[in-house]
Amino acid sequence: MTKGKMLRDPLTTHVRELFNLSDDWQISCRSVQGQPPHYRIEGAEYHVYERGPKTSQTNWNRRITEPEIFFIGCDQHVQWCHKWAAKHGRCWDCLGRGSHWRKWTRQRGGENTRCATCGGTGQAS
Ligand SMILES: [Zn+2]
Repeated sequence: MTKGKMLRDPLTTHVRELFNLSDDWQISCRSVQGQPPHYRIEGAEYHVYERGPKTSQTNWNRRITEPEIFFIGCDQHVQWCHKWAAKHGRCWDCLGRGSHWRKWTRQRGGENTRCATCGGTGQAS
């Protein structure tokens, strides 16, 4: 349905892979808690907009599955990121884009900031 959709961030990719979730599964809420620290990840499958200016973006008003909560250790996630980078030859932090979305301003629209992990190259270090 939405195969090959752009990966949003490493944590989304990690949780999908680890718990065998579909490409429609999106994180709706995340936090770091506990000792040792771990991510508390809440999410569900969502429909995407099929037409209009938001085509193929997540439609947060139309959930497909019931929300579920998963936990991933922060250390575990860092290790996974490095493995992912080695496997794909891309920076785990920005997923090869070389930049991070920072903010949206009325004057300039979306603004990107250079990825500090790879220095903007998008390559695995
Ligand atoms: Zn990067």
